[in-house]
Amino acid sequence: MKQLPRLRIAHLPTPVETLPRLAAILRGPNLLVKRDDATGLAFGGNKTRKLELLLAEAQANGARTLVTTGAVQSNHCRQTAAAAARFGFDCILVLAGQPDQPASANLLLDRLLGAELVWTERAQRDQTLRQVFENAWEVGRRPYLVPYGGSSATGAAAYVLAFQELLSQGVQPDWVVFASSSGGTQAGLALGAKLAGFRGKILGISIDEQADVLRHRVAELANATADLLGEPIRLLADEVLVNDEFLGQGYGVAGEAELEAIRLFAKHEGLLLDPVYTGRAAAGLIALARSGTFAPGEQVLFWHTGGAPALFADAYRSLLAG
Ligand SMILES: *Cc1c(COP(=O)(O)O)cnc(C)c1O
Repeated sequence: MKQLPRLRIAHLPTPVETLPRLAAILRGPNLLVKRDDATGLAFGGNKTRKLELLLAEAQANGARTLVTTGAVQSNHCRQTAAAAARFGFDCILVLAGQPDQPASANLLLDRLLGAELVWTERAQRDQTLRQVFENAWEVGRRPYLVPYGGSSATGAAAYVLAFQELLSQGVQPDWVVFASSSGGTQAGLALGAKLAGFRGKILGISIDEQADVLRHRVAELANATADLLGEPIRLLADEVLVNDEFLGQGYGVAGEAELEAIRLFAKHEGLLLDPVYTGRAAAGLIALARSGTFAPGEQVLFWHTGGAPALFADAYRSLLAG
């Protein structure tokens, strides 16, 4: 496999831990967790791994300013702002939302980390992003576009490496379950699994997309990643496992299932999930365990992708306090 240039930011390998108390409560499979919430950069998360490769690419291109976009409480934007600070880039974040809201949680951290914020409407986001990028280019700021969710082939390649890291820890679970949204994490894990001849299942719990759409996105991204790594291998959309039964009321709307998952992981394992991604993915894992989807004695690894700072967002704090 071709080696890609990489900056070292993340604390790796992230630990793999057992979840015996939660497993007992669910009376289901053996549970493990891969702690990518502990990647170490400004509260961590899965974007840190992707940024190791993306920032190396930015440096190689002579970039001086990172430009990216996301929701107001984007973990991706927060980690990008932190990585920019760490390696001396400027950072411009195009955020979809209202400029007058009080800065809590990830938004507070974006400001603290020194990012410049540009506000836009959700429908105009891509257009605003393009304008901001072009302006930065014209005034000589040498911008580099960090893709949405860090999910280009370069970003996804970080999760091929992450899958190799997991195998090097001597773990061979029957299932790997995680939150899947822009698809880079799943594309990397699925490709890493296929390259290694891994027999377990790589199951993405969709956060905000129909299964079919996400399956195709993941396959396309995985194939672009395989090309980048010089690996003559193809992933078909039909081979990509996505469950979209847990979309609830849509992106960022935490319901009873997410709140229960957050409470169970906190109370029985001292682990913090987030209301948007890992809470939803864990709610999916819990529902699948209860419905007997995992066979008795199987080992299920929950890949924790981070996000816990959102617990302190105004919108969720009051929900969780009850
Ligand atoms: C971005 C994110 C995800 C989704 O990862 P993708 O690679 O975009 O699919 C999952 N969990 C958290 C906490 C995230 O911030």
